[in-house]
Amino acid sequence: MKIAIVGGGIGGLTLALALFDAGFEDIVVYESAPAIKELGVGINILPHAVRELAELGLLDDMYAVAIPTQELVYYSKRGQRIWGEPRGLAAGYKWPQFSIHRGELQTLLHRAVVRRLGESRVLTGHHLGAFSQKGETVEMEFLDRKGGVKVASAEADLTIACDGVHSTVRRAFYPNEGPPKWNGVTMWRATTEAKPFLTGRSMIMAGTFSRRVVVYPISKKHDDRGMSLINWVAELKIADDQPMPVQDWEFIADRDEVLKAFGAFEFDFLNVPEMIRNSSTIYQYPMVDRDALDTWVHGRVVLLGDAAHPMYPVGSNGASQAIIDARVLARELALKPSVDEALSAYDAVRRPATAAVVAANRKVGPELCMEIVEELAPDGFTRIEDIIPVSELEEISARYKRTAGFDPNVLNVRESLSVKRG
Ligand SMILES: Cc1cc2nc3c(=O)[nH]c(=O)nc-3n(C[C@H](O)[C@H](O)[C@H](O)COP(=O)(O)OP(=O)(O)OC[C@H]3O[C@@H](n4cnc5c(N)ncnc54)[C@H](O)[C@@H]3O)c2cc1C
Repeated sequence: MKIAIVGGGIGGLTLALALFDAGFEDIVVYESAPAIKELGVGINILPHAVRELAELGLLDDMYAVAIPTQELVYYSKRGQRIWGEPRGLAAGYKWPQFSIHRGELQTLLHRAVVRRLGESRVLTGHHLGAFSQKGETVEMEFLDRKGGVKVASAEADLTIACDGVHSTVRRAFYPNEGPPKWNGVTMWRATTEAKPFLTGRSMIMAGTFSRRVVVYPISKKHDDRGMSLINWVAELKIADDQPMPVQDWEFIADRDEVLKAFGAFEFDFLNVPEMIRNSSTIYQYPMVDRDALDTWVHGRVVLLGDAAHPMYPVGSNGASQAIIDARVLARELALKPSVDEALSAYDAVRRPATAAVVAANRKVGPELCMEIVEELAPDGFTRIEDIIPVSELEEISARYKRTAGFDPNVLNVRESLSVKRG
């Protein structure tokens, strides 16, 4: 079967590896960008997705560049500790959680695809412009993204759209859907080289959903020399009547604007204004998602990752869910007697699962504890137990893990999604 993967991001490249592992060989990844470059800043890969990458033989590659996250701690806007929990191996998972530069993850996936499938299997500079279906064949036309000039046409028996939040394929099926939905939050993202904070492997969040920072180290290279490459996201909800910021992952923000919004975030464990002042380029992006669809399958074209279920970056699930999509789809294609049955099975499992995460993230996911504390103790507290019982904090966290599929008690014992065909 000839398989076309549109988009060589995290989902598309993982899918190429998962399909190859499941016995498919005639796979081509078509990527719009002229080259696979290390774009973006940090992301987290949670244990359920790390398991999938580990079973694809990528665990050592991840350890070589990423930070295995040890704990996640939530603080109020005053820097008071609300709740902290161990993460990854420290939390009893069989697999770590990794904080990693998105570009480094994409590069390591790309390298693995080239090594296993061959260089000719990833075609950069191929932006899907149009496609149509004739019977069980998908015909595609690729353009040069900048000039709009046609560079190639191709056919496939199955096309999997992994073309991200601005998916061309999704737009073709849902032409009236419009742009992604903005919740009014602007995200500023950057990295800062600095001395390690807390354990040196801690991820922290401080503030409330309308003004908060998310901070964690992402680089083993820096860690090896006693430093941290600290990834941070500063999020500010502005008035609802403001126009949505530009949706461009590489849009450069105004540092003074960020400093103005987070000048008060000077905590004893982390000086946020100093971190902002010393950072590399700051990128700006709106916090967006989309409503769930009623199907991801349209004949022999199917959606995956952000193209299927863009979600707020709450609870660190965007990339992880794309990775799991890839593994489930590869498994179903390998095991089901027909492509149609495989696509239906994938749709039936992954669409509701990810819709639940999108919905949970709209309700601030595990970060609810920060909202509760702000509501009940806006001027600070002496003992967190006086504000909210520890059992409730535990349940907020556990509930989100169950929804997003990374409850350790379930993940550690569930069967592998690997399928090795002869
Ligand atoms: C440049 C960039 C930077 C990012 N930075 C961050 C970040 O810092 N933090 C964060 O949380 N998330 C970031 N993301 C989003 C994050 O990677 C995804 O939310 C998540 O990993 C899900 O992966 P995905 O494969 O579905 O989408 P993505 O990783 O977004 O990959 C989509 C891929 O499809 C390609 N593509 C798009 N349209 C076409 C087309 N018509 N034809 C062919 N190829 C196409 C894109 O170039 C991209 O490589 C970034 C995405 C991109 C593209």
